[in-house]
Amino acid sequence: MARYTRAVCRLCRRSGEKLFLKGARCFTPKCAVDKRPKPPGQAGAGRRRRRVSDRGLQLREKQKARYTYGTLERQFHKTFLNAERQAGITGENLLILLERRLDNVVYRLGFADSRQQARQLVQHGHIVLNGRITNIPSALVKEGDTIGWREGSTKTEYYKQLVEEIESKTVLNWLSLDRQNMVGQVLSLPTPEEVDAKFDGKAIVEYYSR
Ligand code: SF4
Repeated sequence: MARYTRAVCRLCRRSGEKLFLKGARCFTPKCAVDKRPKPPGQAGAGRRRRRVSDRGLQLREKQKARYTYGTLERQFHKTFLNAERQAGITGENLLILLERRLDNVVYRLGFADSRQQARQLVQHGHIVLNGRITNIPSALVKEGDTIGWREGSTKTEYYKQLVEEIESKTVLNWLSLDRQNMVGQVLSLPTPEEVDAKFDGKAIVEYYSR
């Protein structure tokens, strides 16, 4: 399955802000944006800042969304077209579709420290959706779905450590988590207000409408 494989900190530096792609590391002084705020490849301190065009700003917002959810352009565009076909505001539909991705939900439930790690858990067959192993990170969850662990995966060191840490994790209002059994549930689809979006959906719509 195609995915971005280069160092993800470059993506934050390119976006000019922290996108929190690496879990706990993002909150430490090791964060690359804190250490080197300039975009990658612009080491020359004396370089003049160029004015970014409207198109450039729209592209930046689109890239931020894509990087945040770890999708390649083709898949992201497909999600956008799907959002456009739905009734309502396309930018909001897009955000909700991205949030409904199985890898994102695994991350939101606290089963992984980052979306990248969540994607790996899904791809390696550790996660069950409604009791069935689902190894497709882009699978969309719906209201009432349950997300848990494959029985064999509960014997791994990763899982045992997670059980100890899960008490301290909080989940968003549209999800619930049974910490005893390590099973999450989608209570309802998220609203745009419940999602801490780090990008402007309207700018993405404008980017694709050219
Ligand atoms: Fe981005 Fe996190 Fe890397 Fe900082 S540590 S640059 S927030 S991915």
